Amino acid sequence: MRVLVTGAAGFLGSHLCDRFLADGHRVVGMDNFLTGSPENIAHLMGNPHFEFLEHNISTYSYVAGPLDGVLHFASPASPVDYLEMPIQTLKVGSLGTHNALGIAKAKGARFLLASTSEVYGDPLVHPQPESYWGNVNPIGPRGVYDEAKRFAEAITMAYHRFHGVDTRIVRIFNTYGPRMRPNDGRVVSNFIVQALRGQPLTVYGDGSQTRSFCYVQDEVEGIYRLFHQGDNLPTNIGNPGEFTVQQLADLVLELTGSSSPIDRRPLPEDDPKVRQPDLTKARAQLGWEPRVPLREGLGHTIAYFREVLAKQPAEARTL
Ligand code: UDP
Repeated sequence: MRVLVTGAAGFLGSHLCDRFLADGHRVVGMDNFLTGSPENIAHLMGNPHFEFLEHNISTYSYVAGPLDGVLHFASPASPVDYLEMPIQTLKVGSLGTHNALGIAKAKGARFLLASTSEVYGDPLVHPQPESYWGNVNPIGPRGVYDEAKRFAEAITMAYHRFHGVDTRIVRIFNTYGPRMRPNDGRVVSNFIVQALRGQPLTVYGDGSQTRSFCYVQDEVEGIYRLFHQGDNLPTNIGNPGEFTVQQLADLVLELTGSSSPIDRRPLPEDDPKVRQPDLTKARAQLGWEPRVPLREGLGHTIAYFREVLAKQPAEARTL
């Protein structure tokens, strides 16, 4: 197969390129480096099965040659990024998804949309099954991301129903691991970078809000199987192990051996209070199950950030 991955220089996009290449497929990576990093794909440059296009998918896009798959992973995805770049976030979810679907339709390729647990907003149903419609504030600060992804799901289903494109929608829950940027701004990278630098861990609110953290290898394997075996309706892919933000802070302090204090900051507006994927569908349809427990995944991620920080000084980024 020859597949296009938008957001190829991003955290998830670059791991996805690796996964397709490992199975002998050809990959065309596209990225405009708005939030992606050239280092994430440096190891692929020179690989005869990998081509790279520096391009913004939100503008008119053309890819030469046949394609069997289009995987749309381009988007700012960290709250600090989409608060700083609200228009680009809305554009890549709407115009970018439209362009990526247009390419899939023209090439007769299968399409996979990277959607998000954010479509559930601050959920009133817990854990969240795919049938839950969500509780999203369209005009709040997170609305630019949540509504862009909700629109992206709607246009993906329209291309499937109206144009007959074979589409997939993955709802990705909080994922962490190597290749996250030290200044990404999300909770796992912030806490690890702060702990390693001996700086206070910035816990927003009282730290009782929960997230369910999935190690990147598990997430990418689930997405890869969904692309090949899934159906056209949305599928949750994540790890059901649910932790409070305070528990995460304590675990990061323990695993790094850091004695950083906790710095309590105000809880951001519309910050979801709980989040956990209902994996019934993914288990039954894909025979997939996340395997890496948080403690183990954090170990790999801490080792990665130690190396990164040894090479270049970097700061966590807070709201
Ligand atoms: N959070 C925190 N300190 C930080 C960054 C995030 O306490 O330095 C909290 C944030 O308020 C949220 C959770 O950690 O409740 C996860 O935030 P993240 O930005 O990783 O992603 P989200 O799941 O909110 O999209």
